[in-house]
Amino acid sequence: MNAPLAGKVALVTGASRGIGFDIAVQLAEAGANLVLTSTSEGGCTRAAQSARALGRKVLTLSGDVARPDVVDRWVAAAQAELGHVDVLVNNAGIVVRKPLAQMMDDDFTRVLDVNLAGPFLLARRLIPAMAQRGWGRVVNVSSISSTLGSPRASGYCASKWGLNGLTQALAEEYKGTGVVVTAVLPGSVDTEMLQGSGFAPAMSPRDVASVVRFLCCEAPAAMTGSLVECFG
Ligand code: NDP
Repeated sequence: MNAPLAGKVALVTGASRGIGFDIAVQLAEAGANLVLTSTSEGGCTRAAQSARALGRKVLTLSGDVARPDVVDRWVAAAQAELGHVDVLVNNAGIVVRKPLAQMMDDDFTRVLDVNLAGPFLLARRLIPAMAQRGWGRVVNVSSISSTLGSPRASGYCASKWGLNGLTQALAEEYKGTGVVVTAVLPGSVDTEMLQGSGFAPAMSPRDVASVVRFLCCEAPAAMTGSLVECFG
């Protein structure tokens, strides 16, 4: 079997369900050992079982990706249990769907904290070491909502437009180091997050995971900074 990530370690946030679950499975199929995170203890058990059945080592961790102390703990545990992290997939995300008048200040900042600050916290702790080793792959899961404005999703749109900017800033900063930073921009995907949105799913989580797998395993360094649209 083709295992381009054999011997490498991939950290995937939001791997308990939805798109992150399938990213975990596909990176395990590509040979990676995994660090899987979600908010709840035991949340990533199902993904871990699938990866272990393929012979991979897996560490599952819980906590809020928006908290620096939690992210410090994840990075320390990953290094202690599995060694250095080679692949980072910032997939965890939330949406608050409310019209502007009902969007509370805390709603807005919470979405920014999880969807944008979280990826920064992990990138800052992992990318410099990837660059020192001369190889790394970072994929940020952005959204079609980073290409247009969606009503009732001001925080979400702002966070995903911001995530694209973070992706391109880090890609420029680490160009030539062996670290390739990209984003995938899915259209509507059949997960819990889509429920109540009014959008019909155009893709399965597996479809999006296969694009992330490509970006981790096959995308040439010339693609760093790419914002890869997959709208189904
Ligand atoms: P789901 O709601 O199905 O899954 C979200 C995942 O993120 C869960 O594993 C959840 O963990 C985790 N998570 C949420 N908040 C936090 C937090 N504060 N700290 C750590 N983990 C957290 O969503 P999707 O699979 O649909 O979404 C995955 C990504 O894809 C998101 O970034 C989303 O914005 C993006 N996306 C989704 C689209 C869609 O149509 N579904 C379209 C475009 C982009 P837990 O189980 O513990 O809650």
